Amino acid sequence: MDMILYNGKIYCGKGRYAEAVAVSGGFIEAVGTSEELLAGAGDAEKIDLGGKTVIPGLIDSHMHLFNVGRTLRAIQLYGSTSMAEVIDRSRAFIEKTQPAKGSVVVGRGWNHDYFTDERRMPDRHDLDKVSTDHAIIITRTCGHALSCNTKALEMAGVTAETPQVDGGEFEIGADGKPNGIFKEHAMGIIQELIQDPTFEESREIIKTAMAHASSHGITSVQTNDMYEDNYQMVWNAYQSLVNEGAASVRVYQQCGFSTVEGYKKFMADGYRTGFGSDMNKIGPLKLLSDGSLGARTALMRKDYADQAGTKGIMCVSPEQLDAFMAASQENGMQVAIHAIGDRAIEMVLEAYEKAMPDGKNDLRHGIVHCQITDLPLLERFAKGNICGLVQPIFLHYDMHIVSDRVGEELASTSYAFGTMDKLGIHNSYGTDAPVEDLKTMENLYCAITRKDLSGYPAEGWCADECIPVERAVDHYTSDGAYMSFDENRKGQLLPGYLADLAVLSDDIFTICPDKIKDIKVEMTMMGGKIVYKA
Ligand SMILES: [Zn+2]
Repeated sequence: MDMILYNGKIYCGKGRYAEAVAVSGGFIEAVGTSEELLAGAGDAEKIDLGGKTVIPGLIDSHMHLFNVGRTLRAIQLYGSTSMAEVIDRSRAFIEKTQPAKGSVVVGRGWNHDYFTDERRMPDRHDLDKVSTDHAIIITRTCGHALSCNTKALEMAGVTAETPQVDGGEFEIGADGKPNGIFKEHAMGIIQELIQDPTFEESREIIKTAMAHASSHGITSVQTNDMYEDNYQMVWNAYQSLVNEGAASVRVYQQCGFSTVEGYKKFMADGYRTGFGSDMNKIGPLKLLSDGSLGARTALMRKDYADQAGTKGIMCVSPEQLDAFMAASQENGMQVAIHAIGDRAIEMVLEAYEKAMPDGKNDLRHGIVHCQITDLPLLERFAKGNICGLVQPIFLHYDMHIVSDRVGEELASTSYAFGTMDKLGIHNSYGTDAPVEDLKTMENLYCAITRKDLSGYPAEGWCADECIPVERAVDHYTSDGAYMSFDENRKGQLLPGYLADLAVLSDDIFTICPDKIKDIKVEMTMMGGKIVYKA
């Protein structure tokens, strides 16, 4: 026995709690009363939990860990309330990180609607105050516009003579020269300056992201970082960290492909769902079937209620879906498909039904997001045994726009996490970070209370869809483990399971639900090793 955590409240599944947990060789050896386990402790390390609550390590079932790391290593401009603050934060970043002269420095998250001094987008003159030695490129929170300084314009070769780009625009200032503000497709001219990270940089980016995840009690992520053009490099970057013992989070790789040929090449290279180890494993094929609700690009059956003539965009054709499914069924690859609008969800369900006419979903194919739904659609999930990978934190923003976008009636049956449970649909929780931050307690809070982070509305939005606390924790742990075929190995605090757990500052099971979002993770253990301590 290596370690005993005692004098705690250890969650062992619905209605079952223990006081102590014994860890040996990275696995849980026993759970029981403090007295029992301490009696056989010998010289094992003993940690007094001081009555604190312990839950299994959290499993985020859909996110982009690599982009989390990239975002954390860029200038953080989220929440800036003035132009002066954008400039100050950018200067401070350069001061602190000392990038080489002539290099490109990126930032993310400003929104000039919140500026109190000058309510306009930053231009090159503003950003020249940050630096004239570096190319400064800062993207608006929405991702549809960016600002850069004069150095970046020079490096990209943009002048008054540069032609405008279809589907985008760069602004011309009062002096007749480009002013450094680029929108939509025109952003590409400047973004070309941003180089893909090297192998060594990639490892550092992943380490940064893993530390962030550990600090929120996450011990496993199902992450979409591997793509058609980089899968070998990304896999190797993760694997090298695992080999050095430098990985603090277990990774299940959701692999994105845009062509069936590329996908078949990947499989010919030997990659398959389940290949790898407990620390780094190939997960499902990940496909995109539509866009987002905010941008009205999620694919709907009817026109958007707030924009007649618009139904969103289809990112993959039914024929392509069938071809991807045939290759997956043949090769034993799991599939997870992004679908937000009701038409996109229907289209994916049709492809799944076609590929699995017997309704047996042995490969645990799923739909990521599952936002705009009605009861018949959800009943088809249940009938076909299709898994849902959902993001309760999306409620924080989307509850304010969904009725406008799709009308009251369809809104009332959307984000229907409670109905999914009643129908017995396997569903696991995640955050899609960095779209939303990977904060686990805020994610649970949204599932449990159906309120936004300011507590609105007091009674909860579509409150009959609220999830009981224990059930919500299960969705974020054991149901996540189910999605990687690990339900007998992780996601619960029981003997024989991996010793992955999180110690919380407060008792999530008894605290007023409104306060769940403020609970802190005090310690995270992964494979019997303490990987985070507050
Ligand atoms: Zn995503």
